[in-house]
Amino acid sequence: MALIVHKYGGTSMGSTERIRNVAKRVAKWVRAGHQLVVVPSAMSGETNRLLGLAKELAPAKPGDAYLRELDMLGSTGEQVSVGLLSIALQAEGLEAVSYAGWQVPIRTNSAYTKARIESIDDRKVRADLAAGKVVVITGFQGVDDGGNITTLGRGGSDTSAVAVAAAMKAAECLIYTDVDGVYTTDPRVVPEARRLATVSFEEMLEMASMGSKVLQIRSVEFAGKYKVPLRVLSSFTPWDIPIEEEAKSGTLITFEEDEQMEQAVVSGIAFNRDEAKVSILGVPDKPGIAYTILGAVADANIEVDVIIQNLSKDGKTDFSFTVHRNDYARTVDLLKGSVLPTLGTDRIEGDTRICKVSIVGIGMRSHVGIASKMFRALSEEGINIQMISTSEIKTSVVIDEKYMELAVRALHRAFDLDQPAAA
Ligand code: ADP
Ligand code: ASP
Ligand code: MG
Repeated sequence: MALIVHKYGGTSMGSTERIRNVAKRVAKWVRAGHQLVVVPSAMSGETNRLLGLAKELAPAKPGDAYLRELDMLGSTGEQVSVGLLSIALQAEGLEAVSYAGWQVPIRTNSAYTKARIESIDDRKVRADLAAGKVVVITGFQGVDDGGNITTLGRGGSDTSAVAVAAAMKAAECLIYTDVDGVYTTDPRVVPEARRLATVSFEEMLEMASMGSKVLQIRSVEFAGKYKVPLRVLSSFTPWDIPIEEEAKSGTLITFEEDEQMEQAVVSGIAFNRDEAKVSILGVPDKPGIAYTILGAVADANIEVDVIIQNLSKDGKTDFSFTVHRNDYARTVDLLKGSVLPTLGTDRIEGDTRICKVSIVGIGMRSHVGIASKMFRALSEEGINIQMISTSEIKTSVVIDEKYMELAVRALHRAFDLDQPAAA
């Protein structure tokens, strides 16, 4: 008998029919003798719908007073899901009990809309499991020290599930979703994408942080920190397939480099349309400029991603960086208001129609020439590279958004990702 955490995403919870299927699948695992904690997301589209209602009433604005209410609102989708799923589980003849994040409690900091989990008190959950119940816990939400409901950022139910699995030392955390595993790239963009039987934790971390939304990045960070066995698999297989088959399906995130593993140099392509570029032109090229600009941005709690500073000419240079699109307007306002005047320039340009495409693979560590192969593939398609950023196991480029799919397909081909990996 093992303690297992199941997480079901929005599409998997998308209708009462699908919720019934989830309940039947969970019942199969319980009847095989396992203890189950289940973490569902809101029904598909629900979080967007709720946040859309807020937008109808008022434009998004910074500040805790507003963001607190967004969390109060956005978290309700998951409360609906746990109630419905528990009812469905009871209808399957199981004992089931649901909890909102604050009831567990799942404690977070107070960073509304992007809160971080700080601790999970598992006593209540353990007592229920010992009493033979299935415990259903809301994804995406927690509670801060002041008793305020918080949410963990979009896609945050993955993180809830992995954090619960870590806190309870679960034998495995199974992330059930609408694709049957982690692919070489998003299979909805590149139909030739291949499912990976295993992917290393480091690669998964880069893929997630470069934009593959199949797992929220913080869930991968948690899995790495606490060595939570993690698997991504389909919730769309028939619920009554043999449990042994289901337990081996999908993609396993591995923590050790294994001889048997697929050793491709590049194992995946990630992309992300969530960023915008800000350029400040004609800034004096002298010490402290990067700090003046980026320090002010960081103080406003805005995360910066790719940064470039051009060669200077006549003592002046151009400085560009990317931020999340949601933070774009705020960044430009901030710079115009308090930073540009101190730099002696008023030339600021922005571009919200960019995207970032990344190649990821631990094999890149020991191979040279990978980045140039990437640049060649893009140039053959006539795609102009605006910014480049590299790390040991990834290379990212910022390009015009309209070339995103073309770039992803070209790179997928250039690195032979549509071919089965050599044994
Ligand atoms: P859920 O609602 O189950 O959390 P998400 O929509 O958040 O599901 O994540 C699953 C989606 O992630 C897939 O439908 C797929 O389009 C997308 N995706 C992006 N990159 C990848 C990848 N490399 N492998 C698999 N899916 C990916
Ligand atoms: N419902 C939340 C969202 O749409 C959390 C999740 O699905 O993981 O972002
Ligand atoms: Mg998700």
